[in-house]
Amino acid sequence: MAPARIKLDIIVVGGGIGGMTVATFLKQDGHTVTVLEKQSEDYQNRSTGGIGLFYNSQRLWQQRGLWDRVSSVVENAPLTRIFSYNGDDIASIKSTMGQSNVHRADLLKILSEIAIEHGVDVRFNTEIKSINDTTYRPSLVLHNGDMLQADLIIGADGINSFIRTQLYPEIKPSLQPSVILLVNVPPEVMQQAENTENLWNDDSLHHIVGPTREIVSWTMRKHNPPCYHLNFCDHGYVHDSNDLYGEDSPGSPFVSRVAQMSGFRDRWHDFSDGITHILNSTTDYTRWKIAELPVMETYTSPRGGFVLLGDAAHAVQPFAGQGANMSIEDSACLAMLLGLIESKQDISIALKLYDAIRVPRLARLRQIIQINIATFGADNGPDQEKRDKAMKQHVTKNGAPMPAKDEQPTDFLEGMKWLIFYDLLSETEKAWNDYTRHSEQARL
Ligand SMILES: Cc1cc2nc3c(=O)[nH]c(=O)nc-3n(C[C@H](O)[C@H](O)[C@H](O)COP(=O)(O)OP(=O)(O)OC[C@H]3O[C@@H](n4cnc5c(N)ncnc54)[C@H](O)[C@@H]3O)c2cc1C
Repeated sequence: MAPARIKLDIIVVGGGIGGMTVATFLKQDGHTVTVLEKQSEDYQNRSTGGIGLFYNSQRLWQQRGLWDRVSSVVENAPLTRIFSYNGDDIASIKSTMGQSNVHRADLLKILSEIAIEHGVDVRFNTEIKSINDTTYRPSLVLHNGDMLQADLIIGADGINSFIRTQLYPEIKPSLQPSVILLVNVPPEVMQQAENTENLWNDDSLHHIVGPTREIVSWTMRKHNPPCYHLNFCDHGYVHDSNDLYGEDSPGSPFVSRVAQMSGFRDRWHDFSDGITHILNSTTDYTRWKIAELPVMETYTSPRGGFVLLGDAAHAVQPFAGQGANMSIEDSACLAMLLGLIESKQDISIALKLYDAIRVPRLARLRQIIQINIATFGADNGPDQEKRDKAMKQHVTKNGAPMPAKDEQPTDFLEGMKWLIFYDLLSETEKAWNDYTRHSEQARL
């Protein structure tokens, strides 16, 4: 990590995982950075659910000397254990390169603390009324009437991004035929039955696969209060209908708290006794409807004063556990490129390279997510049998490492390996070197 060659004034709109990360990286490089977050200072406490952090983003925090801080709130899973919905073991995958899981609120809290400690000017309760990409410096007007200008404004304001909506109103999120139901179970409930106690005591990430549905779960020991956290993913969900769960209605928000369990229990009654015990002991859950953005060919505004990052640019379905990881990759990529340019006029070059690196990676991620949905959302029958056989063949029960390239692993494992072992900084450096070599040749 070298200091930036020129110092820029940068505004980041949105203080989520991506916004706080890019702000810290840019500040470390010597830029002046302001984060505008619309929620109040205790916004993390309203966040629910868990996030998996993989090696592709962990290494970026390591390279900036910050992983020790971030990892103070994460749980490291030595194995990912895959079970059938009837309780049978299918396979275990050894986490050779680290698999960490964290409560979203704890991650946000530590990221905002790190940003503030580094000197980022974080302004909570700050909302934007309008933006202007037509002047020589981009600007925005706040609800209180203040006008702010910068050399670059980053829109890290999530799937419903205000910045993106102003720049590209045709790009809108659309609901996908999946839902995730989030359940947190206290330790005393997990310890009431042998099979749930076994899950509670095991530090692995658990992946329980059944017909058109899957559960991803783990023990959150570091969260206060500790709990066993489950993501019930239903790939056969019908939005705005009360057919399956007896609860949804047209136009309901993407995220809602639901205090009615009977439809949920019915829909998952075919899972093992442990899951039945968990659902019978649960009184409410968070329903997260799954939406995604259409593909964008550029994350940069027409005049180059704004750039999008994280879910604002490329919200995808969370079935590779990579949305937040991608916002961290975006952050490291953008910070590195902005650190290499030598004049403000060259911001456009940095943004062009950012698009060239990030857009294809996100396109490939979408393909991998579709493979994962087909793999883990398969109904009972030939596809499910093929999947279970392939898993058993390539990954032993006692946790063999991920297969080497020449072992022809399943598509699922190949895709996840491609995601996790990606070296963002080398790719960014290579793109920069190619660009400088071509522009030197063009000058000769
Ligand atoms: C159920 C579920 C499970 C998931 N699991 C994983 C996982 O395991 N691993 C993973 O990598 N990803 C996961 N994801 C995806 C991940 O949550 C997102 O990709 C990630 O949160 C994106 O971060 P972000 O900072 O881009 O956006 P957000 O987290 O949405 O943050 C946006 C921020 O901008 C603020 N904001 C919004 N509008 C404005 C405005 N106008 N002005 C100022 N501020 C504004 C918001 O308050 C918020 O703080 C999951 C998603 C879901 C739904």
